[in-house]
Amino acid sequence: MSQQDRPGLLAVFAHPDDEAATTGGTLAHYARRGFRVGLVCATRGEVGEISDQALASPANLGEIRERELRAAATVLGVEDVTLLGYRDSGMAGTDDNQHPNALCNAPADDVVGALVGIIRRSKPSVVITFDPSGGYGHPDHVAIHHHTVEAFAAASDASRFTDRGEPWSPSRLFYTVFTKGMFLAMRERLQRFGADASEMDQWESVANLYDDDEVHLGMDISAVADAKWDALNSHRTQFGDNNIFSRIPVEEAKAALSRESFVLARPTPAPGTRLADLFDGI
Ligand SMILES: [Zn+2]
Repeated sequence: MSQQDRPGLLAVFAHPDDEAATTGGTLAHYARRGFRVGLVCATRGEVGEISDQALASPANLGEIRERELRAAATVLGVEDVTLLGYRDSGMAGTDDNQHPNALCNAPADDVVGALVGIIRRSKPSVVITFDPSGGYGHPDHVAIHHHTVEAFAAASDASRFTDRGEPWSPSRLFYTVFTKGMFLAMRERLQRFGADASEMDQWESVANLYDDDEVHLGMDISAVADAKWDALNSHRTQFGDNNIFSRIPVEEAKAALSRESFVLARPTPAPGTRLADLFDGI
């Protein structure tokens, strides 16, 4: 197969670490099978919390997180990483929402145009992004969801963004989602080891969890769980020594992270659709 014949997968997220936490196993799975795997990250996560003040300061967090992202991408086998250069908008209701360069304030045509250019250049068959809730409502996750849905449609439209390359039609758009089943299994695993699982109560109150029958594809990524774990651990400023998984044996942590779930967004799936693979039938 020539470079261009290899099927392409493009993941579009908001912050460094989104890729590892949501689809790290899936990206590694396809990279190891020779697919072209690309990643777009809209911001450098400048205003995230810092797990250990020795690792970064608010002044250099973006720079450090870009480095963490590139290390994670290497671990996962992602060939092509593009940062769009917007600023992290911060959590909803914070002053960072007002920053002129914040992703949540970016004109839609600027972000969509950039994404259309990347899709037309990299020619993926499958595109992945957040669901409409962004998983838990982070303004940047919600913003990149909307822009990616728009770019998915616009990339194939020859009348739009005419200076951004030749039209290209990706076959499928998926949303990465968390399921109630995954969530409950994770809590049960923590409790089995007597670990403090109280953070999960906070997550549960904000997370948009799907029923298993709302999901079109569940990926068992246990064969590449090591890569996902190493990618998560590349994000040291976010996934610090006291992360929730540090309270259980490492093999248990990897097992807890070994399923990734997807909803097919485009084309609109027929009722009862179940896929074995992101590329199933393409
Ligand atoms: Zn994020």
